[in-house]
Formats: sequence, C-alpha cells, structure tokens
Amino acid sequence: MDTRIMGVETEYGLHTVHPTKRPLAPDEVARYMFKPVVAWGNSSNVFIPNGSRLYLDVGSHPEYATAETTRVDELIASDAAGDGIMHQLVTQAQQAMADDGFDGQVYLYRNNADSQGNSYGSHENYMIERTTQYRRLTEALLPFLVTRQLIAGNGVVIQDPTALPLYNELPTGAAPHFAFSQRADYMHEAVSSSSTRARPMINTRDEPHADSSKYRRLHVIVGDSNMSQTTQLLRFGATELLLRLIESGKPLTSLQLAHPVRAIRQTSHDLTGNTPLELADGRRMTALEIQEFYYAQATEFLARNGSHHDYVNQMMDLWARTLQAISSQNYSGIDTEIDWAIKHKFFSAYSAKNNLTWDSHRLVQLDMSYHDIHPQRGLFHLLQKRGAAARILTDAQVQAAHDNPPRTTRALLRHRFIEAARALGLDYSMDWTHMKLNDHPMQTLYVRDAFATDVSIVDELFAKVTGADR
Ligand code: ATP
Ligand code: MG
Ligand code: MG
Repeated sequence: MDTRIMGVETEYGLHTVHPTKRPLAPDEVARYMFKPVVAWGNSSNVFIPNGSRLYLDVGSHPEYATAETTRVDELIASDAAGDGIMHQLVTQAQQAMADDGFDGQVYLYRNNADSQGNSYGSHENYMIERTTQYRRLTEALLPFLVTRQLIAGNGVVIQDPTALPLYNELPTGAAPHFAFSQRADYMHEAVSSSSTRARPMINTRDEPHADSSKYRRLHVIVGDSNMSQTTQLLRFGATELLLRLIESGKPLTSLQLAHPVRAIRQTSHDLTGNTPLELADGRRMTALEIQEFYYAQATEFLARNGSHHDYVNQMMDLWARTLQAISSQNYSGIDTEIDWAIKHKFFSAYSAKNNLTWDSHRLVQLDMSYHDIHPQRGLFHLLQKRGAAARILTDAQVQAAHDNPPRTTRALLRHRFIEAARALGLDYSMDWTHMKLNDHPMQTLYVRDAFATDVSIVDELFAKVTGADR
C-alpha cells in the first residue's frame, strides 16, 4: 500500500491516593472522569471532534483511540492529544470529587501494568490489503514484534522477578533488574483471534472498519505505551515499513521462532540482547541478531525503492543507533530518544546518587511516575522539559490535534458531522464507518472508504434534514 491508514489505542491506568482515608475505587473515579463525557455525548463511548474515540469499557481503564491517520507525525500528534484530553478529564474529576467530599490525588498512567499485576495495552492498527496473504504476513512480522522491545520498549524496574510467570527461565534468575518491556511478561499467545484480554501479540479478529472485500486491519496488541515521541516514530515507522516489505513479496519468513511467548519474555530480561532464541528450524539467533536482520532488510528495501515519507531517514538512523547502543552496551547515543534508555539513564544516576539497587521501592515509584501524564508532575514530562527527552512535535502541533482531525482520512467527515450536529442540537450516533442522526435513521452515512475526505456528503445530509425540518 502506498498510503496506509494507521491508528493507535491507548488504555490508561488509574490510581487515587488519599493521605488519610481509603481512596475511591478506580471504577468510581473513572465514572467521575467520564461525567463530562456523558453530559456531552450521552454515553461513555463517544467520538470527539478530532475524529478520535474516547471510551470507558468494563473495568476502569479509560481508553483513547486515535482517529484514522496516514502519516506517522499525525498519528503521534493525535495520540498525544489524547493525553491532553485525559488530563483535562482527570482535573475536572478531581474537582468534582472534592466537591462531593472525596479529596485526594488522581493519577493517570500511560503504562502497561499496575501494582496488582493487571496489564492494559497500547494497540496499533495498520490497514492492509485483503489480497496480502495474512498468514504469511503475520509469520514474517512476528519475530520482529517479539524483539521490537529492543527498539521501542518502555523499560521497567523488576523488583521481584519471582512474581513473574516464567521467572525460572529468565537469564537474570531471581535477581532484581531493569528490563526492556512492560508488556512482554503479560503476553500469552502469538497470533490468535481470542479476545484482547487473552493477549495474543497479533489479534486476528477480522474487523477492517473499511471495505472488507479490499482491506483488513492488522491489530498489533503487543506494544508498550511509549511516552517518547521519538520512540513512537521508530516503533510505528519501522513496523509500517516492514509491512511494505512484506507486501512487496519479500518472504521474510525464514526466522520462525520455536516459542514466541517464551522468546518475548526472555528477550525483555536481557539488556545485552544476547539471549539465544530458538528458531523453529532448530537454529538459534539472539534478539539483537533478529533485529539486525530486519534492519538490514529494511535498508535494502529503501535503497531499491526510496523513502516514502519525510521521517524515514530519521527513523532508520535511530533504528541503527539503537541496535548499535545495545551491541556496544553504551546507551549514550540513544538515551534521550528511546524510552527504556531515557529511563535507564535517569534511574542509574539516581540510584548511584542515593545508593539504591533495582529492588528499591523508590525506583518502582519513579517507574510509575515516568508514565504519569500530568504535564507538570510526570517524570517523563519533567525530563522532556529539561531536554533529557527528545521530541518531534511542537506543543502547537499537539494542541492542533486536540480539536482538529487528520487532514487525509474520513476523520475529516466525522469532524464535520459532529460539529454540524452539535450546532443544530441534533442527537447522533456513530462508529468508525457510520454517522447517523438519531431522528433521521434513513439518512445514515456509511463511509467505507477510510481515505474519504470530501465533506460534501455530510453537508448534503445536513442540508436535507434541515430543509426537511423546516
Ligand atoms: P476494541 O478495542 O473496542 O475492541 P477496536 O479494535 O475496533 O475495538 P477501537 O478502540 O475502536 O478498536 O479503535 C480502532 C482503531 O482502528 C482506531 O485507532 C482507528 O483509528 C483505527 N482504524 C479505523 N479504521 C481503520 C482502518 N480502516 N484501517 C486501520 N485502522 C483503522
Ligand atoms: Mg479499543
Ligand atoms: Mg482495539
């Protein structure tokens, strides 16, 4: 595909602390958070003017799913706008709770596990052609996804490895340590159609949100919810580039892993990248070698086909430097750009200064704080302000994505529809492909083409119904 629809869904962890009383349970706090959403859209599952979806599923993990985008910078911007929207909801919730006598601090974390061992995700969506052999594609991609944590993991403090399911197979044994990925220990399957709760790395449920005769949606649910924009660039950019390679007919299926779930966990707990992973054909390759294989394939592909977007060079350079940093065990070349390395640098310095080791509770707290989305309190945000974490977008770009949809997808039509319906005070409902005014169900717009940007069908619908209403 020359131009591809991409979207990312982020589930947040919610936590409340109170100095003296038992704080409200997360599901109660989530209800407070979504009160303004329900007041605005009659539901805790709404599409908002920037084309994205904001919702609260069962449980207490608020979720934001970006609008459809075609550019990696737009994707990162829409996702970052979600943090801003969630932060506003938290701020309002805290005020409303205080008014009801429940003072206390509410924290919203963009991470992948809470202290009770629940995991929540960061799901990527990539449009692919129906004609691409799906099985071949997932086989070709899986070893990349298993080892992608080397280049896009959040980093995590493992205070007690014995609490992990496969700890006796870890290279670290029972020793507290720092690992690449927050999500890896919670993966249970490689590729399957079981619910996202059972946590396969690729979920095969076939819901394309598009013309199903032409497209599928690849649903990757294995990633860490990154804080760093440069890490996101590498994660989304490299994955998307490999889809191009696979679509071009490149087999890339020579590296089937014998035990993907075991491999992803082993990989996470070895910062050298040198843990040997067993391949289905009996060979062994290290996580680093597998990443180097994909990097070399991508480089060759680009040499033949040229760059396909403005960020390709920056992304490839960062990919190369990250693998180099792991192989040399000198992280200084990436320690402002890759989440695990940014975190590792800060924690190492902090530990040295305060004489701490990886079993320190203080480091576990700082690990949470890194993912706190509060712009003045969260550790990542503080590091970014100090220049210890690089960025790609300006505040103005993120702010623009707060209210405006991406320009190159049907999110533009959704934006137009929401604005018009609200201006007229008309009730509506929608999903990714439908837009309906509840009082005019016969006029429902069905937009299968995710690349549609011509808003005139929306304008025509409103002209018709306002004419009819007169
Ligand atoms: P759920 O997460 O509730 O189980 P879901 O996987 O359909 O359902 P949503 O949270 O609704 O997920 O998010 C769908 C994601 O897919 C969004 O990020 C959206 O931008 C993206 N998306 C929408 N249409 C397409 C498409 N045609 N191809 C690829 N991605 C798409
Ligand atoms: Mg979702
Ligand atoms: Mg999903």
